[in-house]
Amino acid sequence: MAGLRPPERLFLRYPHELSGGQRQRVLIAGALALKPELLIADEPVSSLDASIRGEILALLLTLRAELGLGVLVVTHDLGLAWNIADRTAVMYLGRIVEAGPTEEVVAAPQHPYTQALLSVVPEIDRLEPVVLEGEVPDPTRIPRGCRFHPRCPALASGLAVLVEDACRTVPLPVLPASEGHRAACHLAAARLESEEWSHG
Ligand code: SF4
Repeated sequence: MAGLRPPERLFLRYPHELSGGQRQRVLIAGALALKPELLIADEPVSSLDASIRGEILALLLTLRAELGLGVLVVTHDLGLAWNIADRTAVMYLGRIVEAGPTEEVVAAPQHPYTQALLSVVPEIDRLEPVVLEGEVPDPTRIPRGCRFHPRCPALASGLAVLVEDACRTVPLPVLPASEGHRAACHLAAARLESEEWSHG
């Protein structure tokens, strides 16, 4: 099922005798042996050549369809998420800051961190590249208020001036596990509120 063929030739090989793609297939086979409902793949293709990446991703999608598996892919590559995921959740400093159907997250990102990440994805050339200042803070010293505020381009540029106090002092709740498109951001929440108000 994991595409290791012919199995009788591969069965007795040592790991160093396998290619990177074959080793990845062995790991997938090992995970499938437990008959899981959910497969968690942490950077499944980051160390592979471009040609093999496509094969492994195709295998994950086939297994998902044939076995009815859920597949949770952890990646730093938003372009990859865009290509394979039904839903995308963007994390910053240990929290999901935006989640929704992939098409919606890519077409209309709500959180400034997602907007910055998407602006440097080569396949998406409609956004002006945003270079984030500073480093991700030490996880033992989570900033007050919004944990992204020391690096937020919207706050630095004055775009978030109406919610500036909240950005610096009011922590954002954990996003609910819902079907929709949500962002943990005071500015996004204020925009949503004003849209709802103007429509209703
Ligand atoms: S809450 Fe404020 S600081 Fe945080 S991402 Fe939104 S606009 Fe930026």
